This record gives sequence, C-alpha cells and structure tokens, in this order.
Amino acid sequence: MDMTKDANFDNWDREHLWHPYTSTLDPLPTYKVERARGAHIFLADGTDLIDGMSSWWCTIHGYANPRLNAAAQRQLEKMSHVMFGGFTHDPAIELGKALLEVAPPSMNNIFYADSGSVAVEVAMKMAVQAAISASGSHKKTNFATIRSGYHGDTWNAMSVCDPVTGMHGAFGTALPVRYFVAQPHSRFDGEWDPEDIAPMAKLISEKADELAAVILEPIVQGAGGMWFYHPQYLRELRALCDEHGVLLIFDEIATGFWRTGKFFAWEHGGVEPDIMCIGKGLSAGMLTMAAVLTTREVADTISRGEAGVLMHGPTFMGNPLSCAVACESLKMLRECDMAGRLNEIESILRAELSPAKQLPGVADVRVLGSIGVVEVKRSVDVGRFQKECVRRGVWIRPFGRNVYVMPPYVISNEDLKRLCRELVAIVSDEANY
Ligand SMILES: *Cc1c(COP(=O)(O)O)cnc(C)c1O
Repeated sequence: MDMTKDANFDNWDREHLWHPYTSTLDPLPTYKVERARGAHIFLADGTDLIDGMSSWWCTIHGYANPRLNAAAQRQLEKMSHVMFGGFTHDPAIELGKALLEVAPPSMNNIFYADSGSVAVEVAMKMAVQAAISASGSHKKTNFATIRSGYHGDTWNAMSVCDPVTGMHGAFGTALPVRYFVAQPHSRFDGEWDPEDIAPMAKLISEKADELAAVILEPIVQGAGGMWFYHPQYLRELRALCDEHGVLLIFDEIATGFWRTGKFFAWEHGGVEPDIMCIGKGLSAGMLTMAAVLTTREVADTISRGEAGVLMHGPTFMGNPLSCAVACESLKMLRECDMAGRLNEIESILRAELSPAKQLPGVADVRVLGSIGVVEVKRSVDVGRFQKECVRRGVWIRPFGRNVYVMPPYVISNEDLKRLCRELVAIVSDEANY
C-alpha cells in the first residue's frame, strides 16, 4: 500500500514504533488519530469513525469526557503524583471507599496497581504468599485455570493465558507450567451440564497440595475467545476451592464496571472470590490504573507469613491523578441508571446482530450486556477487515474468529445500530475477511 500520500498513515511510525503484537517485517497498517470525542474517533484526514471497541474495553464514558477532563485538571493543580510509600491522599482513600461499596461484600483490602497485567501478577503473589503462610508448605505455589482464558502479557499473567492462543509456544520453557482444564461449554443462557465441572473437580482433588489458587475470568472469557459460560460453574468451583483449601481469584479486568450488564460479573452467579483483579474501565480509559481487592483473611494471612508483608510496591502505586479520575468515573456510574442503560444496549445488540446467525460464514452470535460477538467460521484477516471498517466509518478490531463490539456506554442508540449494521454487512461478504 502506498502510504506516502495518505494523511492517515505515517511511514516513520511504520519504521520505528512497535504496536501491539506487531511484526517489524510486515506490520499491519495503523491509522493516525487526530482526536476523539464521545463515541467518535477522528482520523488525520477527518474520517469519522464510530467506536466499537472502547479502546480495548476501557473508555466506558467515551473520549474527551468533560467531567473526567475536569477531574483530572483539578487534581493536576494539586499534584499529579506522590509516592505511596509513607504517604496517602484523598483521591486514593475516596476511590477505595467507593470501590468497597460496589465490590463483593467480603472484600476488605485494596492494592492499587498500574495495569491489568500487573494486577494479575500481584493477585498471584498474594495467593502464593497466603498459601505458604496458611499451609506452612513451600510446595503450595502453583495455579490452575481453564482454557481460553486471557490474563495479560507479563510473565505470570501469560503463564495462565490459554496455552494455544496465549502464545506459550513463543516462550518455550521460560514460562512456569500451570494446570489447565477444559473451559465450561455450558452457555451462559443455556442448560447447565454437570459434566462441565468434572475436569476441574478432578484436578483440584488430586493437586490441592500444589495449588495456591484457581484463577479465571468470571462468566465472560475475553481476549482468549469471547466466550460466555454458565454461572453454575462458579458456584461449583467455589465449593471445590473451599473444600480443598485453594484460593479463588476472579480476573474482572474486562468484565467490571457494567460491561456484562452487572457492576461486576461475579453478581451473575452470586459467588465471591478470595482475590479480585479490576482494571480497564476503572479509570475509564483516561490513565492506566488497576487494583487488586482481597479479604481481611487473605490479607492477614499474608502478613502473618515469613515475609510479614505483601511483597510489591510499584513506583506509580496509588497515582493521585488516576485515582481522581477513577473516583469521578465511579460517581458518574452511580448517578445514572446503568442497569437500565445496559439493558437498552443489550437489546439493541441482540436485535441488530442476530440476523448474522443466518449468514453462511457465521458460526455463532452471542450477546451479554454491552458485548456483542459474531463468531465467524475462519480466522479473520485483521488488516483487510479494518480497511473495510474504516471505509464504512466504524472501528472494529477482530481477533481470531471473533468479530465483536464493546462500545462506550455513551454511544447514541443510532450510532450503535449503525455500528452493528456495518458489522453484519462486512461479515456477510467473506471477501472482506
Ligand atoms: C486486558 C486484560 C488484562 C490485562 O490488562 P492490561 O491493562 O492490558 O495489562 C488482564 N485480564 C483480563 C481479563 C483482561 O481483559
């Protein structure tokens, strides 16, 4: 493609900047963004795109949101950062209080981390420290999970991602070896098949003395396959973990802040974890921020252990600017009827995406909350697909066989319908992918 004459492409970028999961030999095109507002992204040549991705699921209130901008500006005048070792501040305290109001009732202690992947690392460190402290055994340090999961790109997070789609092959023996069992195949809205829990039940009963925790995404598996599974799986898993003294970690980084139609996805099953990771929507896509929440019991067990402290403390921990923005975002969520809004988004997604079920290239269509997935039968050529998206004025970035939308909640109903219609139109012609 000749990019030299096109304002939307930059050859310097192509030569020097690494984009996510990108080859330097044959990089996918990257479109240059000039600005973004609400649910619209404007390219350098003025092209107006309806955003279907919430910038990887985080810009829940849309771009350049005036209230979030104002909150950031107010905090900037005071301080954008101060170390969290030996200091505390109101944004961190207020955010903590607001989070405990919406978190599972058993959550008591909060660790602020700088990104989702780091939150997963911290959660795994918590689990190992707690397990060693509670059992006195240095062998109770491994993890079990289900296939098709995604937990981030740092070392330990990667080790519990799906071994096939999670690129374990690229890292060979460098990755710690975890226990994987099949993911539940009972659909979220379908019948519960009791056989679904059998592989996990077998694993936990055989390996409990090696397992610090089970880690998984509750209800919605995101970047590992966009799969929605039955809440009964979580109830059975909770009972197994309790019976065998294994901690349960929920990674709610993708599912939190109303994405699945509830504030957090654990609410679909009424099952509380021992440790929970949140991120993405937490700071509404303004700044990088994540957090790990846990129970008083886990926190105190860690503190009674050998180290006597939780061994983690990043430079940007509890960053005041991020905390202030997250506080304002939570306030905005509290002020709206989010359950009603999510219902509305869900019914539009259902109505507009279901015609895709009839298409020959389509394997499945599923919708939950503000997540709409059209699973196609063969792997999508992302470059070709996105070229057609941009031509039609929408922004959708598929992966594998999943073409999906996760729009900002502020998207207008008209824009949401158009986004879905363009998606279905693109998928209906297999030459587009
Ligand atoms: C995105 C994601 C992560 C990683 O978060 P980053 O902020 O990208 O490091 C972890 N777990 C889940 C479920 C995610 O969706």
